[in-house]
Amino acid sequence: HATGWAEPGAGAMLEIDLGAIAANYRLLDARTGTATCAAVVKADAYGLGAHRVAPVLEQAGAHTFFVAHLEEGIRLRCCISRSSRIFVLHGPMPGTEAEFTHHDLLPVLNSMEQIAGWHAHAGRTGTPLPAALQVDTGMSRFGLSDTDIATLSARPDLLDGIDTRLVMSHLACADTPASPANAMQRDRLRAMAARLPTAPLALSASSGIFLGPDYHFDLVRPGAALYGLAPNENAPNPLRPTVRLAARIVQRRAITTGDGVGYGLTWRATGPRRIATLGIGYADGFLRHGADGGGCAWLGEYRLPILGRISMDSTTVDVTDVPDSVMARATHVDMIGPRRSVDDVARSAGTIGYEVLTALGSRFHRAYL
Ligand code: PLP
Repeated sequence: HATGWAEPGAGAMLEIDLGAIAANYRLLDARTGTATCAAVVKADAYGLGAHRVAPVLEQAGAHTFFVAHLEEGIRLRCCISRSSRIFVLHGPMPGTEAEFTHHDLLPVLNSMEQIAGWHAHAGRTGTPLPAALQVDTGMSRFGLSDTDIATLSARPDLLDGIDTRLVMSHLACADTPASPANAMQRDRLRAMAARLPTAPLALSASSGIFLGPDYHFDLVRPGAALYGLAPNENAPNPLRPTVRLAARIVQRRAITTGDGVGYGLTWRATGPRRIATLGIGYADGFLRHGADGGGCAWLGEYRLPILGRISMDSTTVDVTDVPDSVMARATHVDMIGPRRSVDDVARSAGTIGYEVLTALGSRFHRAYL
């Protein structure tokens, strides 16, 4: 079979290269010098399976992890060592504080309400409790405002019982190195943190790391780069790809001039073509618009343009240029592979690699390398 790795009898196959994820972690860690390199494994490690990915990252040297929700933190706690820290980016919803301490999770406190909740919880437990404070340096998404910080400066007792382990913020435009917002947010982080309890500072995720050491502070939080996505569209991607996805060829046929393909018959043959129907569709994360921007699959060295609309469970490709001898042996084609990155798939669908990765469905046979 032509893809060389998928079992001939198998349906769609998703191969996740844990070694490449570990190598990407080591590259990022080396690049950020003395800063702690954490690992962001929210959304089930961007869809790749946090229970498999996080222990490998831990072996590669990651001892600080970030997830978005409490539930993700509770699940992650079972797969990594007790000594590794887990920060929960959305912080505690009211009434969930005790669950954080029970599962040894560190909340990121984003608002005065969350600070009040954590302060009260510390009061009840009678010990200072560790947490991160997030400040809003310009993205207007999460974090304390200047007004909140002024209140805390005037009333430091509001932070009693809170053991501040990290002061963090997040960059809005890090994938655009020329954006003036980057330096503005960096300088605001310094200014805002100066008015809070002293703690290590963190600003950058994947793209921010590549803005240079001035953006590394004491801790960096890469997610996408661990999984091989390009940190900056205009620079070469130094990271290893981590995902390969092969779709099963379900049926082949010959069509002729004027024949239409797929819902709406949006593509019509202008001459005799040979086509193949693949068992993968938008329910598997292959977004319906994936064909609009020149989407394709690959069979070895042969490019197979996607024809017409992608259906829920199937996609049709043009195999006219593939020699019969190759086609006869082929069982699968690469949707993501050596010739087509996750970022390429995203570009064709008018979206970003993050969305493609996290949308990859659960219907594939998953193989971890
Ligand atoms: N830090 C925060 C606060 C985030 O929201 C995210 C992801 O959205 C990350 C870090 C990781 O970002 P990236 O995947 O771009 O490295």
